Parts: sequence; structure tokens; C-alpha cells
Amino acid sequence: MQTLPDTKSYDVLIVGMGPAGATAAYELSRAGMSVLALDKQAHPRYKACGGGLSVRIDNILDAEFKSVVEHTVYGVQFTYGGKEPFLIQSPSPIAYMVMRDRFDHLLVEKARRAGTEIHEGEQAVGFTHLPEGVEVVTDRGRYRTKVLIGADGANSLVAQRLFPGRRLNRMSTLESELGIGQAPVYPGEGKVLIDLGATERGYAWIFPKKERLSIGVAEFRGRPANPKGVFDRFVREEKGLASMTVPRPAGHPLPLFNSARFAPVGLVQHRAILVGDAGHLVDPLFGEGIYYAVRSGQIAAASVMGIFHDRRRTLLDYDLAVAREIYAEFRVASRLARIVYTFPHLCHRLMNRYQEVIDLYYEVLQGKETYQTFFRKAKGVIKTSFRELLRDTLSF
Ligand SMILES: Cc1cc2nc3c(=O)[nH]c(=O)nc-3n(C[C@H](O)[C@H](O)[C@H](O)COP(=O)(O)OP(=O)(O)OC[C@H]3O[C@@H](n4cnc5c(N)ncnc54)[C@H](O)[C@@H]3O)c2cc1C
Repeated sequence: MQTLPDTKSYDVLIVGMGPAGATAAYELSRAGMSVLALDKQAHPRYKACGGGLSVRIDNILDAEFKSVVEHTVYGVQFTYGGKEPFLIQSPSPIAYMVMRDRFDHLLVEKARRAGTEIHEGEQAVGFTHLPEGVEVVTDRGRYRTKVLIGADGANSLVAQRLFPGRRLNRMSTLESELGIGQAPVYPGEGKVLIDLGATERGYAWIFPKKERLSIGVAEFRGRPANPKGVFDRFVREEKGLASMTVPRPAGHPLPLFNSARFAPVGLVQHRAILVGDAGHLVDPLFGEGIYYAVRSGQIAAASVMGIFHDRRRTLLDYDLAVAREIYAEFRVASRLARIVYTFPHLCHRLMNRYQEVIDLYYEVLQGKETYQTFFRKAKGVIKTSFRELLRDTLSF
């Protein structure tokens, strides 16, 4: 009979070392917990991603990550089907551009220095709830843990196996990366490009890095009949890409938050919790996921520490904190997404006309406003402008 290797035990086992898992690992390890973190890949590893980080990340990550920032973004060039361009700049930064291999590697190394035991190239394949924790089986061994954190991304196996009631849709994206070598950055130093007319209910983007352009199309509501055709048309119509040969794009799922489907099963099951993409913590308006991966990793770590320090606390604190801090924001972002992706052309024109609304949105990216305060104030700006427009028209 085959004998199994000894089962090692940990306070916390984390599956996946993207920004969500690496952040949770760092916080828990520096608090003195025994943490094992697994990743089926070895870092630095490629991750398909635009790599756009809103600058409010400054509020939750220490400045060490700045060493891997490729560009600082001050403005967005908006187009509609390659036409009607306008640029809205901010006097202060709105986003950073990072390559995910370098950014994630930095976070993984930070966790390692804090004391996390990291097994790279080891894949988790099975999970069983135990009375006092979870058993995890991998392609190399078997472990016991008091708490399991599922940080295994958009195709999360932890979610599939331990959260069977959470059957959630993921949106489709196509992305390609074009090496630009020493050529001038497109769409220009300090800018990103967003096109609301490239696809029916989503947007296309060009996010520049030092040596690459990340070019992609994401559908936010429903699925296009021919996503590859949509991508090709965007590349064809975008004048700045005319002289470039863009490599064939690859498809990737984007696990957007979906308010309509959330009620039955939360992010906690017994001693297992989901963070980042595994928990569908992706902003439903523009698909920002890195910030929420980091933030949910931090909230999860705080909740886990809570149950170790105070027996009266439960992991459900995590669900409550995410609802308060993240879902409250995502619900408003969902309402905005419904408007933007139902009337994309009208919204493109309104954004050009009411640039102060975009300035206000930049303040959300800067952490000076929330989606909730933005929504209230933006309605105010548009109402006042309509009133002024009406008054000018009537007095003419
Ligand atoms: C095309 C595209 C563009 C995007 N652009 C942006 C953007 O510009 N800005 C932004 O904020 N967000 C963007 N996102 C979203 C962002 O990439 C994610 O939200 C973010 O990566 C989530 O981090 P995470 O740590 O939850 O998961 P991930 O970064 O996906 O990390 C999961 C890790 O788990 C590991 N893993 C998976 N399964 C197992 C297993 N069974 N055992 C062990 N390890 C496992 C993987 O190897 C991986 O390293 C984009 C997404 C896509 C698809």
C-alpha cells in the first residue's frame, strides 16, 4: 500500500500568489502566523492584464511597489469607434502602469521576507472541510490548515469545490501585447486610451508600458457574437496602431462583480474564504481588479487574525467587511455600468461635454471620492448644467 507523506499543519494555507494571495500572506506572516502559500506557477510569471493600477493603491500599499511602475498616467484619451477623440488630463496622477510579472513577484518576495513558506510550481487539486479547518491535497502533498484562503484567480478551484452555490458568470476579454522596443509610447507619455464604441457593451483599451502596449477588448454585459472580429476592427480603426502588427489576441475570463447574483452564498464557507478574482471582486464599471485583490487580501488577513485572537469572532466578519467597504461601492459602479454600456455613444458625448464629471471620476481613482459620493455629485453637476443649458436656450 502506498504511504502518504506526513501531513503538515499550518494556521493558514493560501492557494494562489497573485496580488490577493501575496498580500494576505504578507499580512498574516508578519503577524506571526504560520502560513503556507502555493502557486502552480513560479514567479515571476506572466499574467494577462492591462496592468492599470488606480493611484489610490498608495493608500493601501507601501511605496516599495513604485520600483516596478512603468509609467504614471495623468489622462485618458477617449475615442468612439476610433473617432471623436478627446483627451481629459488631470494635474495629478490618476493611475500607474505595471507589468504583472514584476509587480506580483515583488509582492511574493515581500511575503517571503515576512516569513511565508512559499511552494512555487505546486498545484492544489482537492479540498475537504474538516471539523477544525480544511485538508488540502496538491500534486506534491497533503496539508492541514485551520483556515484556507482561496486566492486562485478567475478559474478558482477553491470556489468550485468548496463554494458550490456560487455559480457566477465571467465576462470575456481578448488581449494582446505588442512589443514596442524603443519606439515612442502610444497613445503618448502619461496617457491611456479607452474606446467605448469598439464593442457593443464594453470597451477597448490601450495601456502603454515601457516596452509594450497592452491592447484589449472587454465585453461587460452579454457576449459579442464574434469577439475576434471586434478586436480586429478596433485595431484596424485605431489610427495610432495603423503601422503596427498586433499579435493575435488570447481570451481570458474577467470575474466581474454581479449584484443580481450574490445573495445565496457569500465569500466564507466554514473555514474557507475567497479573495480577489476567486471571489469575483472586480469592479463592474471598468474591470479594475488589482486594487480589490490587494484590499480583499488585507481585509481577509485582518478577519483571520481576529478569530485567532478572540474566540467569539468568526470568519463571517470578512463577509461583512467586504459588503461594507467593497460591495457598497460595486453596487453604485454597477448602476453606472448599466447606464454607460446601454448608451455608450451618448455617454461618450456627455463625457466630452461635462468634463468636470470625468475630473470627479479621476478623484475616485485618486481615493479622494468614492463611487457613492461621485454618483451623488455627478448627478448634481449634470442637473445644474442641463438647467443652465435650458435657461440659455430659452433666453436666446
Ligand atoms: C485581459 C485582462 C486585463 C485586465 N486589466 C486590468 C487592469 O488594467 N487593471 C486592473 O486592476 N485589473 C485588470 N484585470 C483584472 C486583474 O488582472 C485581476 O483582477 C487580478 O489579477 C486579480 O488578482 P488575484 O490575486 O485575485 O488573482 P491572479 O492574479 O489571477 O492570481 C491567481 C494565482 O493563483 C494561481 N493558481 C491558480 N490556480 C491554482 C491552483 N489550483 N493551485 C495553486 N495555484 C493556483 C495562479 O498561478 C496565479 O498566480 C484584467 C484582467 C484581464 C483578464
